[in-house]
Amino acid sequence: MDTSFLDFPDILPGHVWLVGAGPGDPGLLSLLALHALRQADAIVHDALVDPRVLGLGRGDALVVDAGKRGGSPSPRQSDISERLIELARAGRRVLRLKGGDPFVFGRGPEEAMALRRAGVPFRVVPGITSGIAGPAYAGIPVTSRDTNSAVTFVTGHGASGDVPDDLDWRALARASPVLVFYMALGHIEAIAAELMAGGRPGAEPAAVIRHATTAGQTVLETTLGSLAADIAAAAIGPPAIVVVGKVVALRTELDWWGGA
Ligand code: SAH
Repeated sequence: MDTSFLDFPDILPGHVWLVGAGPGDPGLLSLLALHALRQADAIVHDALVDPRVLGLGRGDALVVDAGKRGGSPSPRQSDISERLIELARAGRRVLRLKGGDPFVFGRGPEEAMALRRAGVPFRVVPGITSGIAGPAYAGIPVTSRDTNSAVTFVTGHGASGDVPDDLDWRALARASPVLVFYMALGHIEAIAAELMAGGRPGAEPAAVIRHATTAGQTVLETTLGSLAADIAAAAIGPPAIVVVGKVVALRTELDWWGGA
């Protein structure tokens, strides 16, 4: 068998690879991501990257947790970008490892832009996003021929930290049969209310998938009308994906997960 395609390009010194680590399960890493982990001598990672994935890196690599800085829980985005630029300029082979896909609600575009402006060469390695993998591990396909010909990925957390105000919620409610929310727990009551005001029935199936694809995965099945109360009652915190739409009902037959 010809496996020469596995001779992936090297991360050159002074280059940065923005790599998606997937949602958690290390088996969902791409071959190119694994290759990058084995090569990088500096790994800058998000809080959401699974420790087992980090364990695949070189033992002598410098590992920087970009989710923390000197006691303050979240460093400014500009500091993370600066750090990547510094490491690249010091001649490191830099791996910027981000949860899920680097270009899906993950500030990857800002980091790539900063690298471009600084003249640092970079490459993007897509990852499996939690908004698709989470539902899949809960037995919920984000599309199915009989239920929806469109799906919308939505962040519940705008740039201001509030419910995104650049969205036409009523139009979304009317137009998108399936909605997949990232970072939505904090504003779930307001989001559900907007969708119902836009005409979505309170009885519509909804699910919350927490710590998707990891041993700690939990799934809450509910309805749009009961979503906020049920999340509060079950004390579900992040990270979680919320799915609203008829596809959620397919879980009754498609739930295949038996634990990690
Ligand atoms: N780039 C990432 C998303 C980053 S935003 C991706 O493509 O998946 C962070 C949000 O992603 C979390 O608040 C949560 O909504 C979601 N998320 C990431 N990993 C998750 C997981 N394992 N289980 C459930 N939700 C997850």
